[in-house]
Amino acid sequence: MAERELSEVTGTETNETSNFLEDIIKEDIAQGKYGGRVHTRFPPEPNGYLHIGHAKSICLNFGLAKKFNGKCNLRFDDTNPVKEDVEYVEAIKEDIKWLGFQWDGEYYASDYFDQLYEWAKLLIKKGKAYVCDLSAEEVSAMRGTPSIPATPSPYRNRTVEENLDLFKRMKQGEFPEGSRTLRAKIDLASPNMHMRDPVMYRIIHAPHHRTGNKWCIYPMYDFAHGQSDYIEGITHSICTLEFEVHRPLYDWFLDQILDDPNGYRPRQYEFARLNLSYTVMSKRKLLELVQGNYVSGWDDPRMPTICGLRRRGYTPESIRMFADKVGVARRDNLIDVALLEYCIREDLNKRAPRVMCVLDPVKLIIDNYPDNQTEELEAINNPEDPAQGTRKIPFSKELYIERSDFMENPPKNYFRLSPGQEVRLRYAYIVRCTHVEKDAQGNVIAIHCTYDPQTRGGNTPDGRKVKGTIHWVSSPHAIQVETRLYDRLFTVPEPDNVEEGKSFLDYLNPNSLVVVQAFAEPSLRNAHVEEKFQFERLGYFCVDKDSTPEHIIFNRTVTLKDSWAKQNKN
Ligand code: ATP
Ligand code: MG
Repeated sequence: MAERELSEVTGTETNETSNFLEDIIKEDIAQGKYGGRVHTRFPPEPNGYLHIGHAKSICLNFGLAKKFNGKCNLRFDDTNPVKEDVEYVEAIKEDIKWLGFQWDGEYYASDYFDQLYEWAKLLIKKGKAYVCDLSAEEVSAMRGTPSIPATPSPYRNRTVEENLDLFKRMKQGEFPEGSRTLRAKIDLASPNMHMRDPVMYRIIHAPHHRTGNKWCIYPMYDFAHGQSDYIEGITHSICTLEFEVHRPLYDWFLDQILDDPNGYRPRQYEFARLNLSYTVMSKRKLLELVQGNYVSGWDDPRMPTICGLRRRGYTPESIRMFADKVGVARRDNLIDVALLEYCIREDLNKRAPRVMCVLDPVKLIIDNYPDNQTEELEAINNPEDPAQGTRKIPFSKELYIERSDFMENPPKNYFRLSPGQEVRLRYAYIVRCTHVEKDAQGNVIAIHCTYDPQTRGGNTPDGRKVKGTIHWVSSPHAIQVETRLYDRLFTVPEPDNVEEGKSFLDYLNPNSLVVVQAFAEPSLRNAHVEEKFQFERLGYFCVDKDSTPEHIIFNRTVTLKDSWAKQNKN
């Protein structure tokens, strides 16, 4: 597809020029900042599976490191034991590797709990942090508005000794959950609400998947993130736009702990998070879909998760191409899922072998073809890639074709099969329909035709015009397969952004999965899990992991053309 058409489909501009983050890094290198070093990190919280939005962040962080000969760490931001689990840690690592990236260091924010605790005490000693006994509700009621300052906590002026003692006892588990927090003492009148004495530590009496029962106080994201970047020597800490308002706090905490204010310090930069049409992306909502059994699991082929896309038939290359084309924006926008579909079509067009499969079969009987004869016809595996060679497909007197490739009373310009008309059978012969057989209800149960032996391989020796070519399988040779025809999970482009009183669950597409038993050519008998094919004229399909040798299941990755956009035009 030409670039112009692509931007029409997607509403995006593909830019060959470098993005603003690359410009910042180039400038830093030119100025000798960090001694020319570039060190990024990807910091997932292990509280769910990665989705396509994370893939954008992965491609960006690993991509920048690669481009500038730098490093990229994988850091698990595991500061909330209640929601986190090792199951997610393992899944995240697998997804990143599958996408084609290898991290330099593997770290956990929980590895820094001791150091963070020491820094918290340092802040207390400097008079920059205090133990507060207010409940979350009380703090919230006293927080003011951007123009009205917060009411000071009655505990704000505790002595350093008292704070040190209480903080230590918080750590020792003397107090119930929610009864106390450690708060930074910053500015109650700041127009930035995050600077109004934000919480640094809270009490959670829950075992952590890595530190077990060692801790019952856990640092908040804001107190953990910048310091973790600092410990790891991160240079460019890239996050999504909602953290822009946290940046003053990121810098403030670093100011408190750095020995040399002019020495090394990491910097935070923000870019727009990826939003994709016809899906939801927040882990909370994805979890709701899984727990409510609206999908079969995190890797349901309709999920925007990496493992879901993988099972659907997406390749790492297609996802990286997508991340590239989306670019790096500084303002939030919605990317059309048609762009993602475009990327997988581009990739599979080059690599997926073509095969024939009939989804909605009707019998086609060639009356003048010898009974019990079978021919092996040669078919091209991939016209886009001659190196993929050819294969043999069996042909016989009885075939299956798609029901929709026959019409008894066709309109003008119908080039498929109809009484008296000719059509070309892909890789085989030209046939002419003679009559149809119907059941008592008038349904077509078999179509009869004659074939022209001169036209083997689709030849037209006399130069006659046959416009239509249809796919088929030989009925005695065909294998039965299950096809799972997937469509978008939601019926509206922005299920996150719907009418008052409605939920994203009210917009689930009832037809997002249609299961069809189909007939496929016998070469598919040995297809292995995740193997990808183009079913000629139908779309790209991928072998599902639920398959057994006796029962092969194909997931439809995407149709060949974007039928959705057309269908929904009016
Ligand atoms: P969610 O809001 O979906 O639950 P999260 O931001 O809480 O996601 P994290 O595990 O904290 O998920 O994210 C890890 C990294 O991935 C962060 O740097 C985050 O900014 C980035 N990220 C998450 N979602 C997106 C997105 N939609 N687009 C780009 N980057 C994202
Ligand atoms: Mg998060």
